[in-house]
Amino acid sequence: MRINIAIDGPSAAGKSSVADKLAKKLGYVHLDTGAMYRMVAYLCLKNGIATEDEDGAVEALKRADIRIKTSGDIYLDGNKISDELRSETISMKASDVSKNPKVREALVAMQQRIAKDKGYILDGRDIGTVVLKDAEVKIFLVADPKERAKRRILQNEIKGIECDHDKILEDINKRDYQDTHREVSPLKKADDALLIDTSDLTLDEVVDKIYGIVLEKIK
Ligand code: C5P
Repeated sequence: MRINIAIDGPSAAGKSSVADKLAKKLGYVHLDTGAMYRMVAYLCLKNGIATEDEDGAVEALKRADIRIKTSGDIYLDGNKISDELRSETISMKASDVSKNPKVREALVAMQQRIAKDKGYILDGRDIGTVVLKDAEVKIFLVADPKERAKRRILQNEIKGIECDHDKILEDINKRDYQDTHREVSPLKKADDALLIDTSDLTLDEVVDKIYGIVLEKIK
């Protein structure tokens, strides 16, 4: 039996890394929904569209030639833009565009279409509460903001991206505030989601924990 798994939580809580590893272990597909909001932010920036211009953003999304490779690399008009999408500027802009109901409507419809045949792990902010309300396993990952900032800085160092440590923590807090206080689909734990605090856990420990829950569900 194949199921769908929803992983939500604040920024830099390790959702994507966990979802990626878990997907490989289960032979499932990981869909990083944050990357979709990042893509809309990138399209707005590139085309001079204001983040509040919902129709403009949705139109740009419809027109865009977006390809996601099995490696997870993202291409726009044939150019790889995966690294640009991870920049702090795009992170903040993604949080801004994600407030727009029309943008959310368009992306949620895409996400639901993709996951309809089961065997998907979606990570984001509204997966358990909106996108896959019927997901068989729902996880809400949290971690101390300072620990999350540390992990983000380490990720940047590995990639050779220079960053201001205080600014990273400030941006994480700002984004969390925006994401939890927006009117449409705010970041919120679904009532039936299991909360896991990853502050003192390694990536493998978190993956193994969720893997165990999934095996229990599908047996
Ligand atoms: O997960 P990630 O940090 O890449 O997401 C970037 C931004 O996209 C988040 O700060 C949030 O505002 C938005 N987002 C969202 N709903 C999702 C995934 C991401 O609103 N399902």
